Amino acid sequence: MNLFFDVDDTLITWDVKLRPGVMEVFEQLRRDGHDLYLWSGYGPRWEVVRRFEMHDHIINCFWKPLYDHHVRLVELGVPFVPDYVIDDHHQVVDAFGGTLVEPAGRPFVVDREMERVYAEITAFAQRNAASRA
Ligand SMILES: [Mg+2]
Repeated sequence: MNLFFDVDDTLITWDVKLRPGVMEVFEQLRRDGHDLYLWSGYGPRWEVVRRFEMHDHIINCFWKPLYDHHVRLVELGVPFVPDYVIDDHHQVVDAFGGTLVEPAGRPFVVDREMERVYAEITAFAQRNAASRA
């Protein structure tokens, strides 16, 4: 599936700390055959890809539509509709389907959201595959 991850408060905290488990879950999702993208209301976030050395995992970065979500994909240059989104804002999840995450908190607190995200994506992919069979 094409998985679109929001950046702020989904993968990184307000003070640009990486959420626990992000790289491990990226690695596992790619091993499972998924394609990973970042998108953000602030534009393509290549600085985050660089800072956390995500080049091996992230295929591309895009602008994320904040309203008229489906209609604006074309205008924002997003070449296809995401299969699944991971976001701390329910509007995006409501528009495309996916999972809503708790905003990433302060660093060093126990945070297992990414483990839950992985489990949700895997369950969704399995339901998808079953419904196509
Ligand atoms: Mg966000």
